[in-house]
Amino acid sequence: MWSKVAHARPDWGRARAALRTALWDGLAPQRCLVCGAFGAALHEACTSALPAAGGRRCDRCWAPAVRLEAGTCARCALAPPAFAALRTPFVYAGAARAAVLEAKFAGRSALLGPLGVAAARAVPRGWAVEAVAWVPLHGRRRRTRGYDQAGLLARAVAAELGVPLVGVLRRTRGTAPQARLDAERRRANVVGAFAAERVGGGVLLVDDVTTTGSTLDAAARALLAAGAAQVFALAVARED
Ligand SMILES: [Zn+2]
Ligand SMILES: [Zn+2]
Repeated sequence: MWSKVAHARPDWGRARAALRTALWDGLAPQRCLVCGAFGAALHEACTSALPAAGGRRCDRCWAPAVRLEAGTCARCALAPPAFAALRTPFVYAGAARAAVLEAKFAGRSALLGPLGVAAARAVPRGWAVEAVAWVPLHGRRRRTRGYDQAGLLARAVAAELGVPLVGVLRRTRGTAPQARLDAERRRANVVGAFAAERVGGGVLLVDDVTTTGSTLDAAARALLAAGAAQVFALAVARED
């Protein structure tokens, strides 16, 4: 009887540690990545200082292009991606790169809200978006990080656009980090790596960064196979 009671005693040491962590996370002063002022990880107004993805770009894959035929680059004319179009407000450089890296690897998830709002504002008016989905991390990597950065971005995007957030995508297998691979290997690395639950209408697919677009392409294929009428792609930054 006694041993049973002793066993059921709460672990106050651990509870106190958890509370301390929660309080510290909540109370630690946030400092804006751009202007350095306290009060926010990144002010919404300060996102205008991040390097914009400007210049002539392909309507379809958002690659910078000198020559465009009917709005699209030569590569898209030959082999268009599965998504209808891609937009990113920023290029992956300077403060945009720093923000994404801090959010991803330094645990500063508070950066993802303002970055998501900035991304949502890059969505063209003509896109018929009925739901927002995101490129998920593989379970193992999500558990290590404690959150899924593209999911938090997508949540901010969905709120800004006023459409539902749908967690319909999942990874069917772990993949090597894309950053270490060349274009051809990136494609092979993610082919068939996603599966989606039944979905319909126009879906906006969100990720943090895109380079060759092969991850967005593979995830868009899964959404189309699951019934999406059209998939539009959105990321915070494009690595040109
Ligand atoms: Zn600021
Ligand atoms: Zn293109």
